[in-house]
Amino acid sequence: MHTLLRSRIALGILTLSTCQGFAHPRPPKVISGPPLVIRVYSLPDIPPRTLNQAMHDAARILATAAVDAMWQQGRAGAPESRIVDQSFPVLGKNPGYQARGYIVVVIVRGVPARCFPGALGYALPHARVGANATIFYDRIERLTEPGGIELSTALGCAVAHEIGHVLLGSTEHSHKGIMKGVWNAGDFRMSSLAAVGFTASQRLAIQKRLSIEEIEGSRVE
Ligand SMILES: [Zn+2]
Repeated sequence: MHTLLRSRIALGILTLSTCQGFAHPRPPKVISGPPLVIRVYSLPDIPPRTLNQAMHDAARILATAAVDAMWQQGRAGAPESRIVDQSFPVLGKNPGYQARGYIVVVIVRGVPARCFPGALGYALPHARVGANATIFYDRIERLTEPGGIELSTALGCAVAHEIGHVLLGSTEHSHKGIMKGVWNAGDFRMSSLAAVGFTASQRLAIQKRLSIEEIEGSRVE
């Protein structure tokens, strides 16, 4: 079974919301830098166990880029979860999410098939407000319905992939690892997941961007 994980640009505006942490334990910390805060707006019908396991899987994948993920659960219906910002990178400016201090992931269902056909989600790497990554949950459900693929595993991979675009500041894909553009069923199977992660060059690129952000972040008002 083939599908696509890819990124696009869209349109929008802003706001904020309250949040609470996820219950699952965080994976071992692998770097000394500050954790990357990721706020997730989920759907009410996603079983907590599925969501928590997906976040745990995504955190493990992000750890391969030496990123320590700290998850927050966004309040249902918060305006922030409905905003789409098509900002493009501005030379000399911080990445969009860095200005507010966290990445926003929105998990949705019901996006028409004609929108991003075949994709499990998309990223807005330079968005300053609203979602940085949007995940199409019902498409992931359908992908895993035949069995053989854990729903939480596919969800975790999709989340990690789209966050990868945000951290890399790019919509480009690689031929292997979590940033592959086209995934087949085998890519999602548990037996192969141990090898799923960011490549060495992607890890370096992400760490370089994060270290620049830390320095520039001290000047953000
Ligand atoms: Zn992609």
